[in-house]
Amino acid sequence: MPQFVQEDTTGINPPRIDIDAVRAAFPILDQEVKGKPLVYLDSAASSQKPVSVIDAIAEYYRRDHANVHRGVHTLSERATDAYEGARERCRAFLGAAGTTEIVFTRGTTESINLVAASFGETFVKPGDVILVTEMEHHSNIVPWQMLCQRHGATLAVAPMTDAGEMDLEAFDRQLDRQPVLVAITHVSNALGTVNPVAALVRRARDAGAKVLVDGAQAVPHLSVDVKALDCDFYAFSGHKVYAPTGIGVLYGRESLLEAMNPWQGGGEMIREVTFDHTEYNVLPHKFEAGTPNVSGAVGLKAAIDFVDDIGLRNIAAHESDLLRYATAKAAEREWFRVVGQAAAKAGVLSFDIEGAHPNDVGMMLDAEGIAVRAGHHCAMPVMQHFDLPATVRASLGVYNTREEIDKLFASIDKIRDLLV
Ligand code: PLP
Repeated sequence: MPQFVQEDTTGINPPRIDIDAVRAAFPILDQEVKGKPLVYLDSAASSQKPVSVIDAIAEYYRRDHANVHRGVHTLSERATDAYEGARERCRAFLGAAGTTEIVFTRGTTESINLVAASFGETFVKPGDVILVTEMEHHSNIVPWQMLCQRHGATLAVAPMTDAGEMDLEAFDRQLDRQPVLVAITHVSNALGTVNPVAALVRRARDAGAKVLVDGAQAVPHLSVDVKALDCDFYAFSGHKVYAPTGIGVLYGRESLLEAMNPWQGGGEMIREVTFDHTEYNVLPHKFEAGTPNVSGAVGLKAAIDFVDDIGLRNIAAHESDLLRYATAKAAEREWFRVVGQAAAKAGVLSFDIEGAHPNDVGMMLDAEGIAVRAGHHCAMPVMQHFDLPATVRASLGVYNTREEIDKLFASIDKIRDLLV
């Protein structure tokens, strides 16, 4: 068993995370902010990085860096091996059939824009319907809206309930409109809702739609198997799963990626170029124009190794315990409104404090060394549903503790006394 996990010697209880060892792996956590020990509760926006990821990137630049795929020299071979090794690691992480189905991007936003541009150009006609849900991040709304405007298609929206769960009957009614593509989030960043994605994908595919799943908030907390989900596309960002910024993944079903035109032209994505004609490269390179983010891919591989060392099941158990603990504390305060009451949630406690503006709460928490997010979380339609301008969001990573949740609530009590 790796160093981050403690086995139960009786064999009766599940293994437990060694939280001291985990926290020691994140150098950034060991600092004071505004004279108080940092409490980092903003991992849904971006997670912190373990030393193994930082070292892997530094080591790559110290020893192996060169451009990939085109060099005949040793460093270029090493860099290519590192880059393609990272792709294989991502393939295994998502359970994809082959590395041809793993396209490196800058992150979830770019992955979705790639599909909107490329699938859109190849398959979306005037009058077609694209279906999204009410709980999407702007990154899974705006690219489809732009596509609809370009192609004369219609954007339809499947609503959620006041608990922040998908309304399955309403979803089915939208599917009666026979959308060409359905884009759904696996886990809501604003509410924490874990959607029943396998069931939603099945219904959508039965209705003849292709399905894109936004996995930005799922991949850090749940194990994902794209074959079991049977989705056509799955997108995630490295920086939310302990990897660096600027690297992400688009999984695409091979037959679909084959049928789609490239979305950007340039080096790497070609096999042969004349002024009359260009022959495109094979998958996945057809979708990776220009020099890629090799060090980012190296960091992503190290991050997936880190997550696997602990085990997503152990991470999920640890974070679920923290979320239950925080939710119980919230319930003790009648002025504390949890926004998003889904039965299945991961990693996020979004809330509103009666009589206090979320931005003020966020700033006052910062004065206590506590980092949370206050705002619309790039999900304005979610805020519109709940008739709120914003919420405060505390979001969890593997390094958080019950003591940090205690500090959060002690500070919130203080702020409430001051403001109200
Ligand atoms: N989708 C969801 C659900 C998110 O939470 C985010 C980021 O917060 C994104 C998409 C966009 O991710 P990125 O900014 O890394 O492209």
